Amino acid sequence: MKKHNYSAGPCILPQEVFEKSAQAILDFNNSGLSILEISHRSKDFVAVMDEARALALELLGLEGKGYQALFLAGGASLEFLMVPYNLMKENGKAAYLDSGTWASAAIKEAKYFGETVVVASSKEQNYNNVPKGYSIPADADYFHCTSNNTIFGTQMKELPTTNVPVVCDMSSDIFSRQLDFTKFDIIYAGAQKNMGPAGTTLVVIKEEILGKNGREIPSMLDYAKHIKAESMYNTPPVFPVYASLLTLQWLKKLGGIAAIEKINNAKAELLYNEIDRNPLFKGAAAVEDRSNMNATFLLNNPEHAPIFDTMWKEAGISGLPGHRSVGGYRASMYNAMPIESVQVLVDVMQALEKAV
Ligand code: PMP
Repeated sequence: MKKHNYSAGPCILPQEVFEKSAQAILDFNNSGLSILEISHRSKDFVAVMDEARALALELLGLEGKGYQALFLAGGASLEFLMVPYNLMKENGKAAYLDSGTWASAAIKEAKYFGETVVVASSKEQNYNNVPKGYSIPADADYFHCTSNNTIFGTQMKELPTTNVPVVCDMSSDIFSRQLDFTKFDIIYAGAQKNMGPAGTTLVVIKEEILGKNGREIPSMLDYAKHIKAESMYNTPPVFPVYASLLTLQWLKKLGGIAAIEKINNAKAELLYNEIDRNPLFKGAAAVEDRSNMNATFLLNNPEHAPIFDTMWKEAGISGLPGHRSVGGYRASMYNAMPIESVQVLVDVMQALEKAV
């Protein structure tokens, strides 16, 4: 039986993506060859890369607006250092919002390149909220934020107003909600949540912000070189890019971000309503910052954990335990998760209430 997969990432992808990518491993485009054994310079794969790059921009509403999309390797973690390498001037400075573990990992890397100002942090509250009311220094080379904090289950609901370039780590909520994406100068996201298998990172860059920081950048870390090579500077992660393309095609067919946002809102409402209604549970994150992708919640009485854990496992649910730094539970409801799976979890929570 297929599980209801609440894993935080790698995570659920559309069933159709699993089926089509499995088929492409056996025989890609009726070529008599597997996608795993063809050249990345072959006509068939170049077409995959071109379509994936174009479709990513189209879905974000950034087509023809001076942006380029790249599919790089190295995970979102490599972008933590590529961003300062490409944007921070020698003796310059960057501004960062410290809203979670991943934001803080990005800050650590930026410090290798220059002055890194943390404009606000919710670390003291174990990152249970997204800091607000901060100001961004007008002389910063850029401002970096994390749109969704995967571990703590918080999400930025408002974008900062600033005149400096804005860089956003959207690893865990890209393509899940409508935003004015033209407000961002760099968006990056590891594939392994809303897009595809681990192994590639989508990086969307407003081209005009590059080449201004005066640094010599090693080739593999230079966004401009990757753009010039049309995301083929070296052998790209062929299979993750192909599976990502299939997910983007699935999303387009569904009606794009506007359509999935409605479904994501309905799923989140269903689960948060139960967390708030059910006397056995409480949410872990500040209500106004709750993430629609990762819902973190706790049992009021930890003695109920063994019976709850048995019940959700018996219902075919997988991947529900929370991250060790929060404890409790984390229900990751990425784009591919059907609302029916959320209903199964809600039913188990209600059954627990009756059972204890
Ligand atoms: N940023 C966020 C918001 C994440 O959730 C993660 C974990 N997937 C990362 C960065 C790190 O990503 P990666 O493992 O691809 O380096």
